[in-house]
Amino acid sequence: MSLEVSPSAQAPEYARPARLRRPTRAARTGASPFDPDESPLGRTRRARRMARELAVIHPDAHCELDFTNAFELLVATVLSAQTTDKMVNKVTPRLFARYPDAVALAGADRTELEEILKPTGFFRAKSNSVLGLSQALVERFDGEVPGRMADLVTLPGVGRKTANVVLGNAFGVPGLTVDTHFGRLVRRFGWTEESDPVKVETEIAELIPKKEWTDFSHRVIFHGRRVCHAKKAACGACGLAQWCPSFGIGPTDPESALKLVKTPSASDTE
Ligand code: SF4
Repeated sequence: MSLEVSPSAQAPEYARPARLRRPTRAARTGASPFDPDESPLGRTRRARRMARELAVIHPDAHCELDFTNAFELLVATVLSAQTTDKMVNKVTPRLFARYPDAVALAGADRTELEEILKPTGFFRAKSNSVLGLSQALVERFDGEVPGRMADLVTLPGVGRKTANVVLGNAFGVPGLTVDTHFGRLVRRFGWTEESDPVKVETEIAELIPKKEWTDFSHRVIFHGRRVCHAKKAACGACGLAQWCPSFGIGPTDPESALKLVKTPSASDTE
């Protein structure tokens, strides 16, 4: 499906023309898109319908951090705070060539480590995190990354978000990754009113089948990066428009909306 746009504009595959309709009440008035009168069954059905559509819109959604094992993914996820996955991917080849496992990284020279991590920002704090993390892995887990949530969250600097990324992508254990995009989108979808990431995770876990959690997280994050941006949502080019109670918080006409849609190469900026 392609948008009708001027010949000069090329619509990415994931840009879909919204069915023309008025902005929703929430979009017009700034009210919460969460409808307390929507039944749990109705909300679950709507959520699953939207989740199926997300799978069609973003068939390529995946973890955008490069890694070859659980240790690399854990460290890369910690480094991805406050920077882009692309920047982390530029730094980690050198990092893992120098320090290939927890034992090596636990014994790293701090000055050298900080120099490697500098491009990711907050490099002193991140050096502390990965040193502490590696030391804990060596001391308590024989240098191996544990494959259980209960163990992962005991590691310094590892919360449920990071743990779910590692479990979902390195261990095949389904996990919901509640990052800034995920939280913003599921609130705009009217699936939850919660802002606390753990409460968001609990509520969304009730709506989406467990086996889909990891892929679903990637698709929501892709949609947040490419279409449903924090400041200017591309509502008129959004394939979820007909089910979304926030439709109209951004431009609703396809041509204006399409200009807001980011290409994959430009989408890793938030
Ligand atoms: S872009 Fe607009 S219609 Fe699409 S999910 Fe975001 S708020 Fe809803």
